[in-house]
Amino acid sequence: MIAGQAKKTNLLGLDQAGLERFFADLGEKPYRARQVLQWIHQRGVTDFALMTDLSRKLRERLEAVAEIVPPRVIREQLSEDGTVKWLLSEEGGSAVETVFIPEVSRGTLCISSQVGCMLNCTFCSTATQGFKRNLSAAEIVGQVWHAVNALADERFGQKRVTNVVFMGMGEPMLNLPAVTAALSLLRNDLAYGLASRRVTISTAGVVPGIDQLATGDEFALAVSLHAPDDELRSRLVPLNRKYPVAKLMAACKRFVDARPRRSITFEYTMIAGVNDGRAQAKGLVRLLNGLPCKINLIPFNPFPGTPFEPSDPETIYEFQKITRASGIITTVRKTRGEDIDAACGQLVGKLLSPSERRLLVQQQLARQALEAA
Ligand code: SAH
Repeated sequence: MIAGQAKKTNLLGLDQAGLERFFADLGEKPYRARQVLQWIHQRGVTDFALMTDLSRKLRERLEAVAEIVPPRVIREQLSEDGTVKWLLSEEGGSAVETVFIPEVSRGTLCISSQVGCMLNCTFCSTATQGFKRNLSAAEIVGQVWHAVNALADERFGQKRVTNVVFMGMGEPMLNLPAVTAALSLLRNDLAYGLASRRVTISTAGVVPGIDQLATGDEFALAVSLHAPDDELRSRLVPLNRKYPVAKLMAACKRFVDARPRRSITFEYTMIAGVNDGRAQAKGLVRLLNGLPCKINLIPFNPFPGTPFEPSDPETIYEFQKITRASGIITTVRKTRGEDIDAACGQLVGKLLSPSERRLLVQQQLARQALEAA
């Protein structure tokens, strides 16, 4: 940026209301926002000169005060099973990962909301990287923009993004202003036009966030539960000390009450000998009794330095039998993109040298020990 020149607004992160305000400030009519939304998100255009239904004068003005800057690709990996993982460069030298998982009838994009994470879940590799910063709305939407445009290419067989899940790096509920703007664009028919059940926000249990998002744009909610009681959950998800299980469940109940016909998905990472016993399965059934919900069991994904191991398939099956017998739909997440480490935080981890990674794991364990003290 040249000294004295104002920073240009990246229009990628403005939802319809934001873009309408932006045009109002330029003395332009609100319908300009609708035109520009379609150019950016539906036609993938980043050059104002190509926006032919805007007057030349307006295009020149936009060039002077605004820009459309998607993230840059640092690395792209394609798995044998069709999963694609991108490491994307964000402002200030940060990097985040975005994963596309193709299935027969849908294509799910897993996006990040923060660089790193501050929650320190003991079984999550992102935690070993510490927290750097929140992503801006432009950086969150930029991941979707990039994937939609890249996947339209022949070499990916012109795949479509039909679902978006906030299950990459970071805690979306701790970055609500940016996540809310991104959500609005994902849902808007002039942008990505995804139906509410096709956009999932996954949270480790930030109660005020769940309450705040209970009204407003509709989306599917996933809650990372991982344990049915406070003692175990606090060990796995330290945030549980702030928002214990009873408070979290009360917020979940408020969420489904505010949205009739809604159900919540509870994610449960299966860790061998830690949270995968019959007692925990029964505890889960008691806890979720009466709440419209589903359970998604996720076999733990190991990463360098972790003391945990995944539960074996029989244990997962036994666990699933118990929750299913109580009438709760319970699925087991298929591991995808194993050959490219497409699970939480692993590509960024690979950029670090083994000694750097060990150091980060040690730092994480030290932080947890301090918190537990
Ligand atoms: N912070 C949010 C979203 C990011 S994590 C949340 O906690 O929900 C997305 C999901 O992956 C969460 O359910 C998380 O607990 C789970 N996860 C993290 N690390 C994992 C690992 N190593 N193996 C399996 N699941 C993991």
